[in-house]
Amino acid sequence: MTDTASRAATMDKIVALAKRRGFVYPGSDIYGGLANTWDFGPLGVELKNNIKRLWWQTFIHKRSDMVGLDAGILMNPRVWEASGHVVNFNDPLVDCKTCKSRFRADHLLEEKLGIENAATLSPDEMSKLLQEANLACPHCGNRTLTDARQFNMMFSTTIGPVSETGTPVYLRPETAQGIFVQYRNIIASSRVKLPFGVGQIGKAFRNEITPGNFVFRVLEFEQMEIEYFIKPGSGEPIFEDWVAAMWGWVNLLGLKPDHVRVREHDQAELSHYSDRTVDFEYLFPGSMGWKELYGLANRTDFDLRSHQASSGVDLTYFDQAENTRYLPHVIEPTFGVERSFLTVLVDEYDEEETVDVNGKADTRVVLRLAPRIAPYKAAILPLAKKPELTGVARDLFATVQDELGVLVDYDETANIGKRYRRQDEIGTPFCITVDFDTLEDGAVTVRDRDSMAQQRIGLVEVPGFLRDAIR
Ligand code: ATP
Repeated sequence: MTDTASRAATMDKIVALAKRRGFVYPGSDIYGGLANTWDFGPLGVELKNNIKRLWWQTFIHKRSDMVGLDAGILMNPRVWEASGHVVNFNDPLVDCKTCKSRFRADHLLEEKLGIENAATLSPDEMSKLLQEANLACPHCGNRTLTDARQFNMMFSTTIGPVSETGTPVYLRPETAQGIFVQYRNIIASSRVKLPFGVGQIGKAFRNEITPGNFVFRVLEFEQMEIEYFIKPGSGEPIFEDWVAAMWGWVNLLGLKPDHVRVREHDQAELSHYSDRTVDFEYLFPGSMGWKELYGLANRTDFDLRSHQASSGVDLTYFDQAENTRYLPHVIEPTFGVERSFLTVLVDEYDEEETVDVNGKADTRVVLRLAPRIAPYKAAILPLAKKPELTGVARDLFATVQDELGVLVDYDETANIGKRYRRQDEIGTPFCITVDFDTLEDGAVTVRDRDSMAQQRIGLVEVPGFLRDAIR
């Protein structure tokens, strides 16, 4: 396997396509943007929602050992003291005294000095290495970088009208703690028994300093997290089951298996709460290379034990079969929505040398998205903008939307070749053309995005055909 991917996609092409076709825009665009913030446009929100819906169906609806939760972003600040985030959720940063730019010390060491796993070093060790190398500021070039110091990544705000007298609170940096804090209510109000999991999709906020590679690292993002509560001592096989379930998810998204790998954290790299962690990494194109896509950690009873001690509330589980009480251990599979989104765009982006309808050489840009997550499942295209064709096409559009409840595009502008290309570029798996023969034979032409093969099927068969094809 190579360390850098040479593929059709480059991050620049993905960013340009995303903006041009309404997947992702720079945040606050007309004001010149705001670093590391992005907004999801009409197609982006569809793709993102499809990913979240698929995740919820896969991990919550289709499993009898899982339930869902939607906890708040603002929580009692004591939650973050107990979880360790106030003390431990830090990044090591250095400032440039000249231009005031700020950098992640571990990233500088990795990128400029080639030191592996620099995040495992202490700030003192990092400072020593930086001083020895007398590194220049990557922004202004002056050799005026400060020592590394810890910087807490939680955003804080104030509840109440006056910041001096209000209560300081944090915007949650992960969704997991909402689950730990409600674990007792969930046990009391539903019939869950160990082992069981609670899943949640929601926003998290981190004051990230290192610029983000598009939506890979952003300040405000969504996590899809599961806390899976188990009997102490039963962790190892369940951890392996989750590795397999996460591979299943990677396949559902349609990612190419040799672009994904599982990397085990060594002891020095483990988070303060973790007994064992693996990262699912994705091979991004160009210099980005392998980067964390998802994580899977055995958090032991760290969180429940801390919250029990801090809140004074008994969080033990009563095991009826064994007539004992204990604190469950927790396996945590965690998935980033934006990283899933970016990864499918990068993985499915393709350029194909072909000829256009006039026989001229042409490059076809095609997003080979799995139909189950594609924004539009099909596009209905009348061959010409003639009332007899547009009438049939509009009826078909309404029927498909009614019967399938999925998003379908309707396009009667431009020549048919152009319209196909438009749909290829946004990942629409099927183009369905209503032509003059349709008026005679009641059939339409279905064009497959990937193979460009065309077949004729009856108008009445269209909803059934699509239902089978988009699973
Ligand atoms: P990284 O090492 O890349 O900063 P992390 O190990 O801090 O990530 P976790 O705390 O494990 O990340 O968060 C769980 C998941 O949330 C990650 O696997 C990733 O998919 C997503 N995620 C974390 N931070 C960000 C961010 N700043 N922007 C977008 N997604 C993120």
